[in-house]
Amino acid sequence: MNALPWIESKRDGGTLSEADLRAFVQGVVQGTIPDYQISALLMAIYFRGMDPRETAALTLAMRDSGRVFRWPVDPRPVVDKHSTGGVGDKVSLPLAPLLAALGFRVPMISGRALGITGGTLDKLESIPGYCTRLAPERFVAQVQEVGCAIVGQTEDLVPADRKLYALRDATGTVPSLPLITSSILSKKLAEGLDALVLDVKCGRAAFMRTYEEARALARAMVDLAESSGVRTCALITDMNIPLGRAVGNWLEVKESHQWLEACARASAPASLVGRGWEDLRCLISGCAAGLLLLTGRAGDWETAMRQVESCLFSPAPLDRWWAMLTAQGADREAFERQLRAESLAPVMVEVHADRDGWVTDCDARQLGELVRDLGGGRRTAEDPVDPAVGVDELAVYGQHIRKGDLLGRVHVRDRGQAVEAARRLRAAFQLGDMAPPDRPLLLDWVGPADGRVLAVRGQRDGRSQPPGSWSEA
Ligand code: URA
Repeated sequence: MNALPWIESKRDGGTLSEADLRAFVQGVVQGTIPDYQISALLMAIYFRGMDPRETAALTLAMRDSGRVFRWPVDPRPVVDKHSTGGVGDKVSLPLAPLLAALGFRVPMISGRALGITGGTLDKLESIPGYCTRLAPERFVAQVQEVGCAIVGQTEDLVPADRKLYALRDATGTVPSLPLITSSILSKKLAEGLDALVLDVKCGRAAFMRTYEEARALARAMVDLAESSGVRTCALITDMNIPLGRAVGNWLEVKESHQWLEACARASAPASLVGRGWEDLRCLISGCAAGLLLLTGRAGDWETAMRQVESCLFSPAPLDRWWAMLTAQGADREAFERQLRAESLAPVMVEVHADRDGWVTDCDARQLGELVRDLGGGRRTAEDPVDPAVGVDELAVYGQHIRKGDLLGRVHVRDRGQAVEAARRLRAAFQLGDMAPPDRPLLLDWVGPADGRVLAVRGQRDGRSQPPGSWSEA
C-alpha cells in the first residue's frame, strides 16, 4: 500500500477522501503501512488539521476497524459518559450504577491512567477480585442483567486506535483536535450507544488548558457523534482543583463507595454539604440529567434533576454498584476489609495547616504530579501503578480552617518518601485571609443540536443551579 500520496496531499494542505481514509485505517490495522509513514501522516494532520468531513470519515473507519456492539431490543436506552481526564475524577464509578438504577443500560469501556490523569480501570483493579477483562458475550449479558459493566478495551475493539494512539504518543501528535476526536469517538461509537454525555475538562490539570480549547473540542465531538446517530451533549468543567477529596487509585474507589453509601442513607443533597462532596454530586447529577434529556426520558431540566436526585438519594444506586462488583468477580469480604482500613499503604502521614485561613487554592496539577511520582500514575503506557498510594481527606476550596487542622493525608510506600510528599501536599494549598470567590465547576454545556448551548452555573457549595432548558447559543 502506498501512503505517500496521502502524506504529500496533507502536507500541502489538501483534504483526504473517505476512500483514502478507509484505506489508510485498513493499512494501519493490517500492518501494510510502515510506522514511519503512519507517523508522517499523523504529523501532517497535526499541522494541517482536518475538516469535519475528514474527521467523520476517519472516526467511522476507525470504529469499523473492529467489533461494533449491537444490543438486544429493550426499552432501556444504551448510554455512556466519557471524560477527557482529570485529577480525582472518579465520576464514572458512582455514575454507572446510578444510570443503571435510572433504567439505562451502561456498557462502559474505560481506559487506564496516563500522566497525571487517573484511569477508571486502574482504580477498579484495586478492588480484590474485580475483573476488567470480560469476554464480549459476558459483557453484553452483564449489561442486560445488572444494567452496567465497566471493563477495559478488548483486542478487537477499535484496533486502529491502539496502533495510532501508540504512535501519536511516541511522535508528539496527541494534542490534535481531529485526532483526539476520532480516537475518543471511534471507541464510543463502537459501543453501539443511543446517547452519550461528554465531560470535557479545562484548566491546569486538564488536557485542554483553556475554556476556548475545551469548547472547540466539545463542539467537534458533539457534532460528529450526533451526525453518527448518537444523541450527545458535553459539559465543560473546571479542572484546576481536584474533584472530591481523594486522589489515588484505591483512595478514589473508597471515596466513591463512601459517597454512594452517604447518598443511600441521606434523603437530601444537604447531607453532602460540608464533606467536600458537592462537586461530585453536581457533576454526577449533571451527567445523568443530560442523558435523561437526550433520551427524551425527561422533558426539561427540573424534571430531569428531580428524577436523578430521587434515585440518587435512595438505596438503588448502591445496590447496582454491589451487583456490578459481584458480577465482575469482586471479593465482597476482602473489599469490605479494605474499606475499614485507614490506609493500604505502609506509611500514612497527616499534614496540618500552619495558620488559620481560607483555602483559596488547591492545585490539581501539583497533586496529580505528586500521586504520579509516588507510583499512583504512569509516565508511559507500560508502567505499573501502585493502587495504595495517594492523598485523601483533602481540605476543600473555600473552607475555613484553623492552625493545626488537617490539610490532607499522604499515603506512601516508605518513610523516605513521606517528608517530601507531605511538603508537596502542603505546597499545593494556599491559605488566605478572606473567603475566595465562588468557583463554578460546570462552566458550560454544549447541546445536542447545532449551536444549541445550555448555559449553566454550577457551584461547589451544593447550591449548583442547573439550567432551565436547552437554549439557543
Ligand atoms: N483519550 C483518548 O482515548 N484518545 C485521545 O486521543 C485523547 C484522550
